Amino acid sequence: MTAERIDGKAFAALLRERVGALALQFASKAGRKAGLAVVLVGEDPASQVYVGSKHKATVAAGMASFEHRLPADTSEADLLALVDQLNNDDAVDGILVQLPLPDHLDEQAVIASISPDKDVDGFHVTNAGRLAVGQSGFVPCTPLGCMMLLTDRLGDLSGLEAVVIGRSNIVGKPMAQLLLDANATVTIAHSRTKDLPAVVKRADIVVAAVGRAEMVKAEWLKDGATVIDVGINRLPPAEGEQKGRLVGDVDYAAAQGVASAITPVPGGVGPMTIAVLLRNTLVAAYRNAGFDVPEEL
Ligand code: NDP
Repeated sequence: MTAERIDGKAFAALLRERVGALALQFASKAGRKAGLAVVLVGEDPASQVYVGSKHKATVAAGMASFEHRLPADTSEADLLALVDQLNNDDAVDGILVQLPLPDHLDEQAVIASISPDKDVDGFHVTNAGRLAVGQSGFVPCTPLGCMMLLTDRLGDLSGLEAVVIGRSNIVGKPMAQLLLDANATVTIAHSRTKDLPAVVKRADIVVAAVGRAEMVKAEWLKDGATVIDVGINRLPPAEGEQKGRLVGDVDYAAAQGVASAITPVPGGVGPMTIAVLLRNTLVAAYRNAGFDVPEEL
């Protein structure tokens, strides 16, 4: 068997097109563009790249992008004051504070200060709670993107065995909640799980969100499993390479011989994250303006 490659890049491009078309409709209905504010504190190179890509994608989708780049020594009071200003700005539908923050800033306090109705990253405890009890709110972009890829491929997930490896607040836990809502039978595995290969072997759906290069082996997988690889890991550079290759948490080449479908790294889950952020921002805009959210979103 050679697994089908789940093309997250193509799926994300379609989602961005759909969001772009609806963003135009929103703008003509509301008399303003949907708006996303992104706050970056400090000069972390990876964060600068992410913030730059978010800005470009927001503008390309026909939405307004408000960038706030603050110095690394910004005080918590100043950051909270900016978030408060954005919470009260009607042109801003979504607020994203790029993580990680410099050490002197309390991430939890900053996330808690964002209005839950503008928390398009879905990190606020109110949105985590809404997801846990099945109310509509905002779901973190990466797991929601994984869910879109899964339902696109498998349709109804009822009764399927799903194993999520990883229990972080931004990927593993919300992923498990979404799968549970879709009536899968869900196991969450983590660093203390005993006999992980045997746990993974049961799974019709495996979502790996660990951060360990190629940890999940082909022999662990059930024949025909659908595999979503969230991990992004850089290998040490091989001879003659400047930078090492990016790989996922799953041994992709070998897993292709066992799985029925698998996301590649790069080009799988990664591109979904920004596309879902745009989707969440447009949903926020419709809600904040008091309009019904279109079903296509
Ligand atoms: P965290 O480090 O917060 O969580 C990792 C999880 O993996 C923890 O729950 C940890 O268990 C578990 N774990 C660690 N080692 C093992 C092991 N040997 N066996 C089983 N479980 C283990 O990471 P994130 O959830 O933030 O991210 C996970 C991966 O996804 C990373 O590679 C990250 O770069 C990537 N990522 C990709 C995104 C994308 O857009 N594609 C977005 C977000 C993340 P424990 O809780 O017991 O410590």
